[in-house]
Amino acid sequence: MSFAPRGQPGSEVADEVRKNLNGCSQCGVCESQCLFLKKYGSTGIIAGNILAGRDMPDPFECSLCNLCGAVCPEELSPVDLFLAMRRQSVTEGSVDLARYSPLIKYEKTGHSDLFSWYPSGSCRTIFFPGCTLPGTRPKITWKFFENLKKIDPDLEMVLDCCHKPSHDLGRQNFFMERFQVMVQKLKERGISKILVACPNCFKIFANYGSDFTVRTVYQVLAENNGFKPAPYAGTLAVHDPCPLRYQDEVQTSVRILLAKSGFQTGKMKETGKNTLCCGEGGAVAFHNPGFAGAWSLRRSNLAGDHRMVTYCAGCAGFLGRHGKVSHIGEVLFEPEKAMAGKSSVSKTPATYLNRLLLKRRLSKGKRRKSWLP
Ligand code: SF4
Ligand code: SF4
Repeated sequence: MSFAPRGQPGSEVADEVRKNLNGCSQCGVCESQCLFLKKYGSTGIIAGNILAGRDMPDPFECSLCNLCGAVCPEELSPVDLFLAMRRQSVTEGSVDLARYSPLIKYEKTGHSDLFSWYPSGSCRTIFFPGCTLPGTRPKITWKFFENLKKIDPDLEMVLDCCHKPSHDLGRQNFFMERFQVMVQKLKERGISKILVACPNCFKIFANYGSDFTVRTVYQVLAENNGFKPAPYAGTLAVHDPCPLRYQDEVQTSVRILLAKSGFQTGKMKETGKNTLCCGEGGAVAFHNPGFAGAWSLRRSNLAGDHRMVTYCAGCAGFLGRHGKVSHIGEVLFEPEKAMAGKSSVSKTPATYLNRLLLKRRLSKGKRRKSWLP
């Protein structure tokens, strides 16, 4: 790969290289947090190497978690450099995306006519559960929907993929094209407000969906006095997903919901703004499983003996490889099962069937429960 910006002003990589070269004091704080930076050096060193055309970092080993930016005393955002490098690799055709084909197929399936679903009429607000939550936990997805409809009876559900995988792989043109197709479908129906369950969907809509008000279902449920989660007295360690590291209100809402249930949330290190990647970020697991696994293990070790709870179905999947973890929906709606480690979580290929059945349920407008696992 070649990332030498060759002094071309306006090149995304060149601009980011200069920002990081000029701004980095080489304090080493970011490097102490991250295996990728330990391998290639702190951001200023990486920027200098790129400019000199030597010792190129592989940006596809960076999880795009932005922990480096969160801890940087100079308020740099090194993740912007690594994402720009990914985009340049895709544009130049110097990266073999074949290794990500399962992820790209997953995204394509979610966006297909067969799997996506839009209401036939118009509505103002939708619940957008993403791909992984309805696939792995259709019953929990429906419970979120039912409770949101109690607050707003006109709410509808939309099934589609936000295309965060392509965004993070650096397929920017492809991402923009597909995202605009989705935006068009939403606007045609008069939709102006999107309630998401997935932190990745939140980040995409918040950054690119300026036509919409974007909130999480956790905020909406936490501020509604009528919502009563199932009671349970227990202790959980909260893992904040890294796409929401700067979303204090969402983080607080999750803790309010858990407290409403009766849960105590022990103070785990590296949460909130300084939260860690779960291992899924940047699709690093497809390329450097060691780096991805190290993130998951680090988080699980910090939880100690406590069961973790998170509000991202993807995080739950990755953290579950090393420790006890529940999605917040399981904890709010079926706490006994969740705390006993007996929640129903589907795996591929059942996840695809679940999404088709959910779509069928929406298209028939029925509330039958017979298909639910
Ligand atoms: S974004 Fe995350 S993985 Fe990438 S360099 Fe920063 S801390 Fe490391
Ligand atoms: S924390 Fe910031 S200033 Fe320190 S080495 Fe990293 S990028 Fe440079």
